[in-house]
Amino acid sequence: MPDAPEPITSDLVIVGAGIAGLSAALFAAERGIDATLVGETGEILFASGLMDLLAVHPLEDGRTWEDPWAAIDALRRDIPAHPYARVETADIRAAFDALLGFLADQGLPYRRRTDRNVDVLTTMGGVKRTYCVPETAWGGVRAMEEKASCLLVDFDQLRGFSARQIASALEPRWPGIRTARIPFPGSTRGQYAEQLALALEAPGNREALAADVRACLGTARSVGLPAVLGLYRTEMISRDLRDRIGVPLFEIPILPPSVAGLRLRDAFHRGLTEKGIRLFPHHRVAAVRYEQTDKFVLDIAAPDGEHRLHGSALMLASGRFLGGGLRADRNGIRETLLDLRVHHPGERADWHRQDFLDPRGHPVNAAGLEIDDRFRPLNDGGEPAHERLFAAGSILAHQNWIRSKCGVGLAVASAWGAVKAYGPPTEGYASLSFEKYIDKN
Ligand SMILES: Cc1cc2nc3c(=O)[nH]c(=O)nc-3n(C[C@H](O)[C@H](O)[C@H](O)COP(=O)(O)OP(=O)(O)OC[C@H]3O[C@@H](n4cnc5c(N)ncnc54)[C@H](O)[C@@H]3O)c2cc1C
Repeated sequence: MPDAPEPITSDLVIVGAGIAGLSAALFAAERGIDATLVGETGEILFASGLMDLLAVHPLEDGRTWEDPWAAIDALRRDIPAHPYARVETADIRAAFDALLGFLADQGLPYRRRTDRNVDVLTTMGGVKRTYCVPETAWGGVRAMEEKASCLLVDFDQLRGFSARQIASALEPRWPGIRTARIPFPGSTRGQYAEQLALALEAPGNREALAADVRACLGTARSVGLPAVLGLYRTEMISRDLRDRIGVPLFEIPILPPSVAGLRLRDAFHRGLTEKGIRLFPHHRVAAVRYEQTDKFVLDIAAPDGEHRLHGSALMLASGRFLGGGLRADRNGIRETLLDLRVHHPGERADWHRQDFLDPRGHPVNAAGLEIDDRFRPLNDGGEPAHERLFAAGSILAHQNWIRSKCGVGLAVASAWGAVKAYGPPTEGYASLSFEKYIDKN
């Protein structure tokens, strides 16, 4: 038997590589914390690439908000246990500034109106209210506001995206919208968005695509395409196509697994490694235990064998049921790694409402870890389970991010709050200002 490898020791170990874990690793790096991230990529791969802050509150009324900050103020008053109530507005703003600055540095710029939500087109022809959109989708926000003449294009090969379907839902409000279906250029026979995005990395395919789009352009003042404009050099590809076609282009989010999610994952992995974060992506933590009072020991199962991590602090960013951070059985719901108490409606019969599509969501959708003001999960007795154990993201209780439209915002804000609670920045690491990335329009 080969000897087990030496354990890797870190000040902070973060479990879960969804947007909460990745953001926590970024904020830790910015504060000079020695951190390791271990986890399978989260719902990020399924995500639209849009970043919601808060759009709907209260769920009972279905009220949608233009000003997400006013919505957060109202939510804090109404649900004092909501994770947003444990982070100052200034901290949420700082978290977004840091995240967007980082992504822009990684060649994945986002746009927003700092104090307003925006509306974007969705694959199904609906309109979604969100906070930040990839730069490559921003033209769609403007086009929809202006309702100018616009061409939506789809491809023979791409399933699950129909320009015709989107346009037919919008035509009554947007008469200048037209559609065209064209074959995807080159030898790409694939039907997956990732394959098309990779194909557009080649200039020849872009040239052919631009020629086909130009032939259908007519009087259109902008062109909407499924979000497949490259995987690694999206900005350049989008600029290049715009120059060849001659009008602004915009991407429309597509069904999961989305290229926008892959771009986010790659940007994080690249950037975090550059910042000195130890990354164990695609690895699963099989078990965690406390050793003495100041050490967490994690056993990691990986295709290349087993690893052991030691951390003096641990952050759970392991998601809910889909990610595997929570487990439900006949006896209730528990957290999977440390068997922590999970807040949820007592009786199984109370977990769901009668109507599956009830706009208020189901009570079980607000299940999760209860925390104190320092983002420390509480044990069965209502006390912090461990002085140096933190939690962030969708694993937290008292929030329904799907219905409230606050998925990324909640993950990022709670990651910031938990890293801040971990401790002050290491000497020499100051808070960074990312003002240059903020769009004031
Ligand atoms: C289809 C879809 C569309 C979405 N669209 C939007 C949108 O438009 N706007 C928006 O703001 N948000 C959107 N979201 C939500 C957004 O992705 C959430 O913010 C996010 O899912 C919550 O992030 P998280 O990091 O807390 O949890 P997760 O994304 O669930 O990540 C947790 C990760 O931890 C890993 N993990 C769990 N246990 C272990 C273990 N033992 N060892 C290692 N790893 C472990 C899981 O595998 C998982 O990968 C969407 C989500 C989905 C599914």
